[in-house]
Amino acid sequence: MPPLDLPLLAKPDVLVVGGGTSGASAALAAARDGARVVLAEAGPGPGGTGTYGGVHSYWFGRREGHAAAVQRTTRLAHRALGLRGGIGAWNIEAKALALHDELHAAGVDIRYDTRAFAVLRDHEGDSDSNGNHTRVTGVALAGPDRPYATTAHIIIDATGEADLAAWSGAPTVHGSAATHTTMWASLARFEEPGVTRNQFGGLADLTDPADATRAVLAARRRSPEAHDHGEVPVTREGRHLVGETVLTLTDQLTDRRFPDTISLHFSNHDLKGKGEALWPQLGLIPPNLELEVPYHALLPRRVDGLLVTGKALSATHDALPALRMQADLENLGAATGLAAALCVRDGVQPRQLDVSQLQKRLRHDGLLPEPATPVS
Ligand SMILES: Cc1cc2nc3c(=O)[nH]c(=O)nc-3n(C[C@H](O)[C@H](O)[C@H](O)COP(=O)(O)OP(=O)(O)OC[C@H]3O[C@@H](n4cnc5c(N)ncnc54)[C@H](O)[C@@H]3O)c2cc1C
Repeated sequence: MPPLDLPLLAKPDVLVVGGGTSGASAALAAARDGARVVLAEAGPGPGGTGTYGGVHSYWFGRREGHAAAVQRTTRLAHRALGLRGGIGAWNIEAKALALHDELHAAGVDIRYDTRAFAVLRDHEGDSDSNGNHTRVTGVALAGPDRPYATTAHIIIDATGEADLAAWSGAPTVHGSAATHTTMWASLARFEEPGVTRNQFGGLADLTDPADATRAVLAARRRSPEAHDHGEVPVTREGRHLVGETVLTLTDQLTDRRFPDTISLHFSNHDLKGKGEALWPQLGLIPPNLELEVPYHALLPRRVDGLLVTGKALSATHDALPALRMQADLENLGAATGLAAALCVRDGVQPRQLDVSQLQKRLRHDGLLPEPATPVS
């Protein structure tokens, strides 16, 4: 393919691609820490699966730290819009407005209706002294009226599908490594104005344009009585990063501790589809667990300049169900944004970051509890 000849329209410290559950939080945390941040989001506003995807409530997850702050601002937006009642199930426009106002106040350069379609790399082929083959230096974006390039010191892939990691040549896998099955996807169903529901609509591969279109049409046919549908299908699981650390169900069942934990997640283990690991096949139903997510589960192999956050983090198909809840991914996103800001400040690549400094900050900011037991 010929090299892209695009105008360079921005050079922030941190570029976040995907302004959904994890990406909006990442952009906020990085900007609040002083980084110059551009946020590129394909949809018309922030929040991703939790707003325009129609998934309007928390389910499990640790609603502490950054997630608690998001809840507070969503509640205020509800009141400001004159909506009554609690936010057990939030109004998706209220949450999108709350997130937008926070991003704007933090000084994030926000680009909606802007889709990343390629990565810019500085070299290919040769390994550097760290054994890395390539460094992502920027992203090609399709804005509302034209394509352009943006370069950044650190780029955060919060697309939920590890798009940038895959395009950079980092190892990724779609769903289960054995069969590529995923958890069920959904096209939001609006039963009446403002009232959304999930749809248990089978599988959808959003990395395959034809299958993404098929999934939309199939979902619309499935509920013709609905008042309206969401614009885009949302997946519980798509393409995963196969990163420096890969989280597995065995790690979870054996309560594995990591020296580089940056986020704690909590959920049940509802596979929403078919499992592949031996444990469920032997009849074991995993209990609800509190799980550590290490920094190295965000690091792509052989690629520098990039952190992958959100549900595309490096975890197997069987490990993801308990890691993917919105409150937890909001906290993980904030931790990722802070990591990026620290990399900028220290002038280092993500894999050179002093993770103990990041952990110290996360504990100070209430994003990471003190370890209950020493790391073995
Ligand atoms: C049907 C369903 C039901 C669920 N139910 C619950 C529940 O009840 N409670 C709960 O807590 N969790 C629930 N979850 C899980 C949770 O909602 C998700 O795990 C979480 O929202 C994913 O966050 P994310 O940041 O990884 O992705 P998303 O929130 O999906 O964000 C990804 C963003 O990236 C953007 N994007 C993608 N590609 C590009 C690109 N190339 N360029 C620019 N932007 C791009 C998208 O537009 C999107 O905004 C559910 C998920 C689904 C799908």
